[in-house]
Amino acid sequence: MLSFAEAIHDGFGQSFRVDRLVHYEKTDLQELVVFDNASFGRVLALDGVIQLTERDHHVYHEMIAHVPVLAHGAVRDALVIGGGDGGALRELLWHAGVRVTLVEIDPRVIETARAHLPFVCGDAFDHARAEIVVGDGLAFVRDTDRRFDVIVVDSTDPVGPAAALFGEGFYRDCARRLAPGGVLVTQAGVPFFQGAQVAAAHRVRSRLFAHATVYLAAVPTYTGGPMALGFASDADLAPGDAAVLRERYVAAGLATRYYAPDVHVGAFALPPEVRALLRDA
Ligand code: SAM
Repeated sequence: MLSFAEAIHDGFGQSFRVDRLVHYEKTDLQELVVFDNASFGRVLALDGVIQLTERDHHVYHEMIAHVPVLAHGAVRDALVIGGGDGGALRELLWHAGVRVTLVEIDPRVIETARAHLPFVCGDAFDHARAEIVVGDGLAFVRDTDRRFDVIVVDSTDPVGPAAALFGEGFYRDCARRLAPGGVLVTQAGVPFFQGAQVAAAHRVRSRLFAHATVYLAAVPTYTGGPMALGFASDADLAPGDAAVLRERYVAAGLATRYYAPDVHVGAFALPPEVRALLRDA
């Protein structure tokens, strides 16, 4: 019986039975695996780390997309760095009138999502308001002269090509590329296992933005308790007002399974041990 053992934390890992191997390749940048599992449905892993599953990806994608857009309230232009599975792109596109540029370094992730992960990306890559750029997100934010209302950093963990996406130079460029009142959201890691990483990246963001914090979302296959998403802006937008968020949510006509305006507000309520990570950062 074939199994997939995730190798991300020291001395602990989750494992999945591989009921069907759907796709395996070594791209120019990473090892890419898609398989089916009885409990979680279709699963995408990169370099031995679970990226998403059919069963729980909506938690991550709804929370990384709708929190910044509804917190801001008037988004026209959004940028996704990474996110080659198309899930964040698709959620952002539910907001009528929002144009989304996605910059993914590995074209094989996009092609694999199109072929094997339609439940994640739908037809988002071909949407009239989507622009897909294959390239390094680090170089894109350094070189573009465009401004965005929201930047979503939907990256892999800070190893390989994603390492620089947790660093000061990248966050500084993001800050320069945000329009006034714009919001940066980042995949930050699971505080229980990756506390030092969550704290270090928060330390940098809090030097560059007037307001920086993290919010939490419980994604079952990102093991170790809730994961943190970095949230930074020059405007004071967190936790937000549930009544205002509800008006925006209803006006946007969203149908979500995890995101809700009161979940949005509650996600910014941090346990003392997470607050301590940010304070000591
Ligand atoms: N939600 C996921 C997680 O953390 O488990 C992230 C999913 S998404 C597949 C991450 C994407 O970031 C990958 O497709 C990877 O190729 C891309 N990526 C990594 N480094 C990048 C960079 N420097 N520029 C643009 N995309 C990058």
